Amino acid sequence: MTRPRIFETIAGLRADVEAARRSGRRIAMVPTMGALHEGHLSLVRAAQAKADLVIVSIFVNPTQFAPNEDFDAYPRDNDSDIAKLSELGVDAVFLPTVGEMYPKGFATGVSVGGPSQGLESVTRPHFFNGVALVVTKLLLAALPDLAIFGEKDYQQLCVIRQFVRDLNIPIEIEGAPTVREDDGLAMSSRNRYLGPDDRKRAALLPAVLRETLQALDAGTPVADALDRGRSRLTDGGFEVDYLELRTADTLAPFDDATRELRLLVAAKLGATRLIDNIPWSRAS
Ligand code: AMP
Repeated sequence: MTRPRIFETIAGLRADVEAARRSGRRIAMVPTMGALHEGHLSLVRAAQAKADLVIVSIFVNPTQFAPNEDFDAYPRDNDSDIAKLSELGVDAVFLPTVGEMYPKGFATGVSVGGPSQGLESVTRPHFFNGVALVVTKLLLAALPDLAIFGEKDYQQLCVIRQFVRDLNIPIEIEGAPTVREDDGLAMSSRNRYLGPDDRKRAALLPAVLRETLQALDAGTPVADALDRGRSRLTDGGFEVDYLELRTADTLAPFDDATRELRLLVAAKLGATRLIDNIPWSRAS
C-alpha cells in the first residue's frame, strides 16, 4: 500500500503529470466530490486497467450547488478517501481548495446546451453549467489522456461528452456502469442521508425502473408505462421529479424509430433526492 502523491495546487499537479507524460505514460483521471464508495472505486479500477498513471480528484464544487442545496452539509472525509485510494494503489490525488479553483476575481463560465436541457435542469437549472465549468478546469489542470465518469449520473455524462467535443478538449471520455447495493439502490454519497426506513423504501426506485422496462418490453405504450411507474413511486412515499424515456446518446425526445433509449428518474424521499437510470433497447 503506497500513499498517493497529493497535490493541492494546479501547478504541482501539472509538474507531476508533465513528467509522466514526457516519459510516454498513459494518464487517466477520475473526478469525484469525495465521500468515496464502491461506485467511485469501480471507476478508479477501470482507469487503472486503461492507463499507467491514475489521478483522482476530490473537490466539492460550489458552482454546481444552488444556495438552497447541500454544499455545506455534503459529506467530506478526505482521510478515509485517501486511505481507500492508497489501498487501490492510486498514483496521485488532486485535492484543491475552493480558492485554488476559483481565485478572487474569477469571472468565467461554461454554458452547455443540448443534453443538459430538461430532466435535472428543471429543478437544478444552475447544475450543468457548474459541472461543465469544474470538469473543464479539472481536465485542463491535469490534461489526462482519458477521464472516466459514471453512468449513474447519465445526463451529466452526456453533457460532459457534448462540451468536450464542442470545445475540442483532447481527452477521451469514458462511461462506466452503475454500481449498486444488494437491493439494487445505486450507490451514492447522498444515500447516507437516508434514515433506516427511507433506506429500505429507496430500493423501490431501481425496482420501478426495472418494472417500467418490463412493461415497455411487453408492449405497453410508453406514456402508460411511465404513468404507472410514477404512481408506483408516489404510492411508495417518493415525491417524483421525473420519470422519462429519452434517446440514449443525445437525451433528445425520441420517435418510434429510435432503438437505443434511456429511462431516467429523479425522486425525493423526505429531503434526500435520488437519481437513477437504465438503458432500454427497443426490439425491432
Ligand atoms: P460524485 O462524487 O458523486 O461527483 O461522483 C464522481 C463520479 O463517480 C461521477 O462520474 C459519478 O457518476 C460516479 N459515480 C457515483 N456513483 C456511482 C455508482 N454508484 N456507480 C458508478 N459510478 C458512480
